[in-house]
Amino acid sequence: MSVDCGDDDALLFDDDAEQPAPLAPQNARTWKIAIVDDDDDVHRTTCFALEYVQILNRPLEFIHTYSKEETRRVFAGESDIAVILLDVVMETEHAGLELVSYIRDELQWHDTRIILRTGQPGYAPEEDAIRDYDINDYKTKNELTRKKLLTALTAAVRSYEQIRTIDASRRGLHQIILSSAAFTFDHGIQAFAAGVITQIAALCGVPPEGLLCAQGELAEQGKSPQIFNVIASAGRYSELMNRTIDDIHDERIRDALKHVLIRGESLFTEHSMTLYFAGRSNRPLAAYIDLPFALSEINHHLLEVFCSNLGVCLDNLGLINQLKNHAYRDQLLKLPNRLKFIEQIDLLLQQKQSDQMAVLIDIDDFAEINDVLGHHYGDLLLQAVADRLHQELGQQIFLARISGDVFGLFGDAALLQPERLRGLFTTPFFIEETAHAVSGSMGMVALEGYEGNDGAEVLKDASIALKRTKSQQRGTYTLFTRQMGIQIRERATLMQHLHKAFDAERLFLMYQPQIDLVSGKLTGLEALIRWRNDDGQLIPPNDFIPLAEYSGLIISLGAWVLRTACFTMVRLQQAGLTPGRIGVNVSVIQFRQDDFIDIVRRALQDSGLDAHKLELEITESVTMSSAALFESRLNQLKALGVSIAIDDFGTGFSSLSYLDKLPVDRLKIDRAFVQQIDTPEGPRIAELITQLGQKLGLQVIAEGIEQAEHIKILANMGCHEGQGFHIGRPMPEEQLIDWIRTYVNTQSAQNTPESC
Ligand code: C2E
Ligand code: CA
Ligand code: CA
Repeated sequence: MSVDCGDDDALLFDDDAEQPAPLAPQNARTWKIAIVDDDDDVHRTTCFALEYVQILNRPLEFIHTYSKEETRRVFAGESDIAVILLDVVMETEHAGLELVSYIRDELQWHDTRIILRTGQPGYAPEEDAIRDYDINDYKTKNELTRKKLLTALTAAVRSYEQIRTIDASRRGLHQIILSSAAFTFDHGIQAFAAGVITQIAALCGVPPEGLLCAQGELAEQGKSPQIFNVIASAGRYSELMNRTIDDIHDERIRDALKHVLIRGESLFTEHSMTLYFAGRSNRPLAAYIDLPFALSEINHHLLEVFCSNLGVCLDNLGLINQLKNHAYRDQLLKLPNRLKFIEQIDLLLQQKQSDQMAVLIDIDDFAEINDVLGHHYGDLLLQAVADRLHQELGQQIFLARISGDVFGLFGDAALLQPERLRGLFTTPFFIEETAHAVSGSMGMVALEGYEGNDGAEVLKDASIALKRTKSQQRGTYTLFTRQMGIQIRERATLMQHLHKAFDAERLFLMYQPQIDLVSGKLTGLEALIRWRNDDGQLIPPNDFIPLAEYSGLIISLGAWVLRTACFTMVRLQQAGLTPGRIGVNVSVIQFRQDDFIDIVRRALQDSGLDAHKLELEITESVTMSSAALFESRLNQLKALGVSIAIDDFGTGFSSLSYLDKLPVDRLKIDRAFVQQIDTPEGPRIAELITQLGQKLGLQVIAEGIEQAEHIKILANMGCHEGQGFHIGRPMPEEQLIDWIRTYVNTQSAQNTPESC
């Protein structure tokens, strides 16, 4: 405060103390003081008393109003009034208090300080009003000597400024918090710096002009001079954004920033301050601010606290950036990762550009390369591929590492032609000075038709296309089509439903009879799985068994089939029926399981079924894979007493010499060969299989017998047994019991006369 108050305590109107010397205002900023009074004299004397007065380095600016109505009108177009000297009684007894309510409630001016004045000693507004309306002071007019007026006014202005500062720093803080929450990984520090300068401006009450924030490049040990860049700027320095501080023409500013960044301490001068923000990271930050007036002690203090707090924020920011970096970048190849790839596709899709393409490239046989040549070699190969893709495709194509050996690319379709991409793999890669030829399989997706946030969807579709390439022809490419997606999705839904159906015990077995083709005697049954879905529809096993195999469900499903079949067989025997044996289909996946033999043993034990009554049907393809394993498994099963049938015989490629050595009991002629048996060329394969069986001493059974004629032909060939719709369809247990009873009866009825 630059006022000599003297020690007089006389009444304002009598006050003739010496006036303080006029002070040249340091700046245009003033404190707005409103004088609201219906008495013209009060206006004049107040002004006179406060002429040339400065409070907290600022002169006063007066606003005069004379009635409640006028005040409402004038205030409606005003802002930033620091103090109102308010007459209580004007045109009405409550005009002043009504104005207070208007100011606080309607105008929502909560910072403005109000000093009530009344001409009548003894008159005091209710305490409630003073409390509720946050009234700063209450004075009778004759209490207001010049000194008292100044003291009251100074206290009010100071209080106003403090409220403002707190409010401003709260807003600045809010901005810092907002900006730290909204960090994107490149702009994080800039948003932060922008928050910093706004907050400093608010804290010191300076306009956001002439503010500048600079940051050192990541300091390398012992490397100097350092480069410092402007990372946030406001007002007349805005065009310096992203330039180095050497581009700053004003020598004072340049030197101040350098001084602070190098010395690591803040610098205050009469017309500027340069603040230093230390973080643990070696990227110090400094902010330069023009000061239109010298700062108070309080401000210095506040700024120190502020700077040290921000140092902590800066560290956190460093951490956040590091985290983001880890979250979005592949650390081995220093490429964007899967997450970033999806995010960038999302962005691209939002821009709705046409003819864009996304591609996944998978290095063929990478797992083997890693296993055989070591992980270090594998890493080098990945790096070499990444480098080539980057060099050949250039900046216009976004390149990311999606997973282990899968790269993701997207960009203009014209630049991502499959032939061009394949061409990138024709020259070998040089790893540790040796050439290594590598091919890549590709899955491609045209981005046409995808919506804003479909990045993840695009990646999934590209993976579907890639999988197809891998399974069909490595080293080539597949362009994703909607049809592919539909198929995959249908399969996925079917798979889910199958899992649910199994859990809910909605799968069941049917049994199809097998007979001796000559005697007609019932020799066995084949257990066949059935699935009735929620709509009551039967889904054929050929549709869902491959899915169960794919998802691994076949293991528990297969074990369940085996047990159920054994238990059924025991029940049939207990019912006095003797269907011979029961055939159970076993999938390759099941057969390869380590505990397969145990599962069979337990099914037999738990059900009490004699092992000789169980036959496992194994398709020819099983016999092809891993001969040694197959042989030992079969021997173990034989040791249990279980018999073995080779299912669908003739459709695979069994090695005949090999078949000779295996402990197999029966060959099943596939129904495809049976159904063509009455055509001229038709019987050949069935005949061949039958003869082969005979040579090897194996039983032969034909499936798919649909006509009486077939039985004759097959029997004549020497085929021992058969099954098919003509004999009996697959049926549920209860129906089967009836069927067997009837069949056995008619059999014996037919046979009795002959045998007699
Ligand atoms: P598969 O082992 O060759 O089974 C014989 C299939 O031929 C059965 O089809 C049966 O219903 C059908 N069939 C029987 N007689 C005739 C006929 O006269 N004409 C015609 N057109 N078809 C006949 P299904 O039940 O649809 O089973 C198809 C395949 O599913 C089976 O072929 C088998 O490979 C597999 N499968 C069925 N149940 C199981 C099971 O429990 N486990 C495993 N792993 N696979 C199973
Ligand atoms: Ca079968
Ligand atoms: Ca078959």
